Amino acid sequence: MNETQINWTDVTWNPVSGCSKVSAGCKYCYAENLAENKRGTLAFPRGFELTIRPHKLDEPRRLKRPSLVFVNSMSDLFWEEIPDDYRDRVIDAMRAAPQHRYQVLTKRPENARRYFERRSVPECMWMGTTIEHALTVGRADILRDIDAKVRFISAEPLIGQLDGINLSGIHWLIGGGESGCHLANADICQRRGMVRRGDRRAGEPGWVVRKDREGWARHLRDACAGAGTAFWWKQWGGVRPESGGRLVDGVTHDGMPSFPGAMPPGHQVRVIAPKGADKLRLPLHAAPRTMAAE
Ligand code: SF4
Repeated sequence: MNETQINWTDVTWNPVSGCSKVSAGCKYCYAENLAENKRGTLAFPRGFELTIRPHKLDEPRRLKRPSLVFVNSMSDLFWEEIPDDYRDRVIDAMRAAPQHRYQVLTKRPENARRYFERRSVPECMWMGTTIEHALTVGRADILRDIDAKVRFISAEPLIGQLDGINLSGIHWLIGGGESGCHLANADICQRRGMVRRGDRRAGEPGWVVRKDREGWARHLRDACAGAGTAFWWKQWGGVRPESGGRLVDGVTHDGMPSFPGAMPPGHQVRVIAPKGADKLRLPLHAAPRTMAAE
């Protein structure tokens, strides 16, 4: 398990790493970049090729604090290269530690649907799919076929307005703009970013939300309100995830699924310490409070 700067989870768990690209959202995959940069090291001996990590299967059981666990931030559990019998072991590890809620996110919901045709989804597992532009909104229809207690959509990196998205039966949606060093390139930022460089002479901050794209976030916020789907706006993005902030029309959106049994029992909201902050003075958890849907 690893601490993470991803603000909608508590820890990441990577019982497998490696993946291949499936759609436009993968173009600047941070996981590939990280793994390939460390190719040949102990952590990533095979770079972004398939790497099974059975020694990690027991980690959830050893983590006692009920947590939100993002499964495979360095892979896609439903990648064709991962054998079903190892996928079974990952799912079994979740069942063995039901005090957590496991956030499984895939760009291959058709593979997940096929897998769960002959197995049940654990009560403690959330099933999600990424939808990054209007061409992939059909993934929500496939996700709806999967009998998970919580179904969610990650609209990140959001690279187009999600016209035609149907949120019926979807409990949670996370949205966010593209981030990464590649956005320092003006052409890439123009094509994929939700932010632009600020004009310092005009008193603007370093990164500013683009007027022509903020409507994409409003569209999701309003679609979620209409469908009763909890809405989390993660970031506007930029060279760092937090470059453009995360306010939509001046409001922070931290919606989470709130029906009984959705969240880990006794879950406490995590306060993310800024990188380099003194962790002795900034505790991992704030005073207990329950996350509520908006
Ligand atoms: S599916 Fe995810 S992990 Fe796999 S290449 Fe695409 S962005 Fe990377």
